[in-house]
Amino acid sequence: MESLNFKTATELSEMLSRKTVSAREIMQAQLDRIAEIDGEVGAFISVDPRDALAQADASDARRAAGTPLSALDGIPVAIKDNIAVANQPLSCASKILEKFVSPYDATVIANLKKCGAVVFGRTNMDEFAMGSSTENSALKKTSNPWNKDCVPGGSSGGSAAAVAAGMCPLALGSDTGGSIRQPASFCGIVGMKPTYGAVSRYGVTAFASSLEQVGPMARTAADAALLLDAIASPDMHDSTALPGAREPAFPRIDDFSKNSGKKLRLGIPKEYLAGTLPADIQNAVRAAAAWYEAHGCEICEISIPSLELAIPAYYIIATAEASSNLARFDGIRYTRRSKEATDAINIFSKSRGEGFGEEVKRRILLGSYVLSAGYYDAYYLRAQKVRTLIRDDFGKAFENVDFVMMPTTPETAFPRGGKTEDPLTMYLGDVCTVPANLAGLPAISFPCGFSAENMPIGLQLIGRQLADAELFSAARAFELAHDFSSRVPAGI
Ligand code: GLN
Repeated sequence: MESLNFKTATELSEMLSRKTVSAREIMQAQLDRIAEIDGEVGAFISVDPRDALAQADASDARRAAGTPLSALDGIPVAIKDNIAVANQPLSCASKILEKFVSPYDATVIANLKKCGAVVFGRTNMDEFAMGSSTENSALKKTSNPWNKDCVPGGSSGGSAAAVAAGMCPLALGSDTGGSIRQPASFCGIVGMKPTYGAVSRYGVTAFASSLEQVGPMARTAADAALLLDAIASPDMHDSTALPGAREPAFPRIDDFSKNSGKKLRLGIPKEYLAGTLPADIQNAVRAAAAWYEAHGCEICEISIPSLELAIPAYYIIATAEASSNLARFDGIRYTRRSKEATDAINIFSKSRGEGFGEEVKRRILLGSYVLSAGYYDAYYLRAQKVRTLIRDDFGKAFENVDFVMMPTTPETAFPRGGKTEDPLTMYLGDVCTVPANLAGLPAISFPCGFSAENMPIGLQLIGRQLADAELFSAARAFELAHDFSSRVPAGI
């Protein structure tokens, strides 16, 4: 049989309904590929083949009975290791939770199971989702399938590498400041951060609750839309999840192509096509803009001056929330307790001191500092004001444009070890992704070219609140007209 590893979820779903393949065969193909190449890529922290195959068999039984649960019934979905799956490890790539097994399913996982998807594997990530390269994982290294000396991006680097290397058609990531879109861009796949509140955060280990969303990672925009529709729902367990039914994205995936006469307006913030951006990224974004223009869109230059404040505001708000959210890991509940602990106080200090990595400690310290009585007004409060400014500036921009368009990252995947000594440089790489989180807006990254070194370049579209479906259809039209999404990394 032709390899199943680089088929899209949509193709696999059609094959399943025509009965030309079984869910077991699809799952086995992923497991074989993982056995063959994951020693080199390092995308998965753990995989439970028996459980995965049992879910695939249950799916085949439903198909045989003529009662598949959805288009995703029998399709494997890999899961970032900060999303709770009942009876599976939930380590957040940390030492402190290394042995923790989740007693329950996150709402996104329960939703996937209701669709019959085969939920399998725990993908590597930066510890507690803090980072942009997956190098902060306390458990293993992940390589970029396009160049093994480069990082896959982060924090959802394992999910991105797994999809890019043909070890799963679909994966879930989480995006607090770019952790779905940036690794998607680095690995040449599609990644999408939904509108804040579209997807429940119940059962997702909290890093910065007001910023983060779980979202889809896939080889095409159509697949990503299918996956978002499966996970998005209101949720009584998450008060920030939006109430009421949301409009599904997949049925509208061809809207853009059908209405190419409709004048969509795409605004490129001039702040993001400045001189410092590498020429191949600038050229790829300009070429994409020219393509949209040739297909009925109007391209205009816009200015969102407050964007230059996005990085400092994000790193103040995110660390403040992290310092509070991570207080629960105390050596008493959930987590590993230090063997050196002798009394109530040093249970905390020793367990946390041994269990957290450098970056997590740095952020807890920074977050506690910006929230402390003496500095709250100077840092935290001001960052919140900047956040409002950024949200309002986007609101003004959306009076004139339908999408904001910019690169996903200011560079392509960088060499491993290149920034680990210098956290500030690492933080600055998030310049294009954090604004959408601060404003709660949906944003998608999809492949729009390759650098001179043959590394993928991602294009980002940011939409109005709840314009998730429109983003997918704009990305889909572009991907159908180009071959970037169908290229696969050579050499693995
Ligand atoms: N790179 C950003 C950070 O380090 C974003 C992380 C994320 O989205 N989880 O905080």
